Amino acid sequence: MEKKNIDWSNLGFGYIQTEKRFVSNYKDGAWDEGVMTEDATVVISECAGVLQYAQTIFEGMKAYTTEDGHIVVFRPDLNASRMADSARRLQMPVFPEDKFVEAVVKTVEANTAYVPPYGSGASLYLRPYMFGSNPVIGVKPATEYQFRIFATPVGPYFKGGVKPLTLKVSDYDRAAPNGTGHIKAGLNYAMSLHAIVTAHEEGYDENMYLDAATRTKVEETGGANFLFVTKDNKVVTPKSDSILPSITRRSLMYVAKEYLGLEVEEREVGIDEVKDFAECGLCGTAAVISPVGKIVNHGEEICFPSGMEKMGPITQKLYDTLTGIQMGRMEAPEGWIKVIC
Ligand SMILES: *Cc1c(COP(=O)(O)O)cnc(C)c1O
Repeated sequence: MEKKNIDWSNLGFGYIQTEKRFVSNYKDGAWDEGVMTEDATVVISECAGVLQYAQTIFEGMKAYTTEDGHIVVFRPDLNASRMADSARRLQMPVFPEDKFVEAVVKTVEANTAYVPPYGSGASLYLRPYMFGSNPVIGVKPATEYQFRIFATPVGPYFKGGVKPLTLKVSDYDRAAPNGTGHIKAGLNYAMSLHAIVTAHEEGYDENMYLDAATRTKVEETGGANFLFVTKDNKVVTPKSDSILPSITRRSLMYVAKEYLGLEVEEREVGIDEVKDFAECGLCGTAAVISPVGKIVNHGEEICFPSGMEKMGPITQKLYDTLTGIQMGRMEAPEGWIKVIC
């Protein structure tokens, strides 16, 4: 299919409407077959469950072109199962995991003109989501739902080079113990908006959230998990039931161990020990890893030895290896790359 005339490497991260998206409706206890539609609007009752009580969940993933010219997506089965977990926690019907992957394939197939070429650094961002669509006024789960996937082309994350981030240890909490921090729900983001806007006004790139119960342990940022590297090259990621299980982070931990032969640890990380790490990065689909240069904890500045100019050496290796696997330059573990065409 002929590509759209888009300046791929100068694209930002914004919504660009494409022609086709996937829609499926849940009613009377069952999902319909689902269709690709050209209708980019959603029409729902003024009293829809999502509008009154925020019953909505989402996923985020990317389709891109590999070195040998295939269009692929990375581990969509994990997005499917994570969305199923999110649905169960918000008392929503699960969109069957195999159907989820099929819908991802259909959405990418219908949008191949928007998949950026290899080497551009850009990708086609996919946004699966689901929401309660019928009227709900007494507090209870909706009985009807809509599941959709739209696609939007996005530019390279590190446009104009890598710039390590400066973080603030937030006084706000992201997620409660036994709450919803481990699922991908809009409600977690709604409550983080004031905190992130405030942090930006103060000159920080992101918030580091601590555990809400004791405020002594590192959790994550608003939308990315932490990876730390110790001075003896061990890769450490915080363990907590209120962290969103990032697919990128899980993949990077595997790569650290199996490809780079590094020791890896998923364990509680105290805010007090952060100053002893050699490197710090944020993991998520958007950037794979963005390096963190500095964390400010109520006046105390923690500056990582990797500095404010580039990624630390282990972070760089992790980044190069995972992006190498994704782009087809290195052999991928079984099942990681779903080839669309
Ligand atoms: C989506 C998300 C991440 C990153 O997950 P990936 O699967 O790697 O994209 C991390 N934290 C939060 C809160 C998220 O919503």
